[in-house]
Amino acid sequence: MEHTRSTYQRLPVELWIHVVGHISEKRDVAKLCLVSTLLNSISLPFLYQNLNISMQNGREWDRQLSLFRTLQIPRYSNIVTTLEITLSGGYVCAKILDRDKSCTCEVYDREVGNFLSALRNLRSLYFRCRLCRANGRHSYLDTLQTRQLRVFRFSCSCLTSQIGESNEPNPTSLLNAPFMQAVTSMALACSNRWLIDDTGTISSVLRNPDVLPSLNTLGYIVSSDSGIFRFPNEFLAARPIQRLYYPGPPLLSYETPPTQQTLECLMTNDVMQWLSPIVTKYPDLYANLRCLGTITLLSSKEENILHALEPLSVLKLLHTIELNQFISGNTKNTGDIWSWENKFEPFEPSDSLVQRLGQQNDSLRRIYHVHRPYWDVQRTDATLWERNHDDMWTRRAIPFMDHWEVVNGALDSL
Ligand SMILES: [Zn+2]
Ligand SMILES: [Zn+2]
Repeated sequence: MEHTRSTYQRLPVELWIHVVGHISEKRDVAKLCLVSTLLNSISLPFLYQNLNISMQNGREWDRQLSLFRTLQIPRYSNIVTTLEITLSGGYVCAKILDRDKSCTCEVYDREVGNFLSALRNLRSLYFRCRLCRANGRHSYLDTLQTRQLRVFRFSCSCLTSQIGESNEPNPTSLLNAPFMQAVTSMALACSNRWLIDDTGTISSVLRNPDVLPSLNTLGYIVSSDSGIFRFPNEFLAARPIQRLYYPGPPLLSYETPPTQQTLECLMTNDVMQWLSPIVTKYPDLYANLRCLGTITLLSSKEENILHALEPLSVLKLLHTIELNQFISGNTKNTGDIWSWENKFEPFEPSDSLVQRLGQQNDSLRRIYHVHRPYWDVQRTDATLWERNHDDMWTRRAIPFMDHWEVVNGALDSL
């Protein structure tokens, strides 16, 4: 034992960090923490730096509560830089488990707030709430201690309106929270009541230059009180957004042309449904686009595809496009509108098609060919076509990426 201790003490700390970094199981890293003070301080960051907290069943509640308490202690909370948390109402709310009981989501939410407020060094937060709908939840978000948060993802239906309900406006907007100061990348899937203040509009909140001064990347699935999802015109007008994920078409957005000129990457679910007429009519509007998707084709015939994508040739900087692996509009419809899979046909671009797309669009360098999951059809394979210096295209298999990952540059760094 004496010999073992002297051996590991002789190894430089950097080497230990390297060794511990190769241990894949967190429970093995946890055991190392018990060996010595030195190994404890080396191993703790591997345990707490990146956390993903969610529940698989109700029995995990006590264990999670004990983790929440640990994370209020600065020795641990100061280590956390990335947190993905799912507030699983289905496992913690007495009402969801038994309709005769009262909702207990509030108690759970308070526990989450107690530890979240202690994370001073958080740089990336994915907050996914699955609690019962209610007003007044997550008020701790307004006073988070971190001033280093760069990436903020927020998904919550707590304030989503139901038909016939009239809602009070929130006195403050989440966008005003001090932790937002350093955020460059933000994805929202929530009611617009989280964003507006007592003035009633997002524009008036964004008029304050201190709100989200550094924002350049946006994911936006925000519903109004009447349940309508709108293109984030207010954000595009007020901040130099370069990268955007918005699932639908930008209704009427081209009536305010200057607002999209900063966009370099645009991801929506089926971009050709609306982009062609806009870029034809306003060639300068999306002139800075370098990355565009998802393009779902209506035909597998080469000539038809080239014709459909021809309007994109006005985008002189377009470098990357994302093609769906499925052709939509198949006539094999069985008559059952729910048989969606029957409306899509698998599709593989040929060498010749890729070559000709490159000729048609001179700046094109990459084609990301992916299956965007529709409903319950799941595929995780994807292909990246790349144009070499000699103008030849080659392909390789790469991991599947969701829209948010593409918008955040995961494809660029491959
Ligand atoms: Zn509940
Ligand atoms: Zn919520």
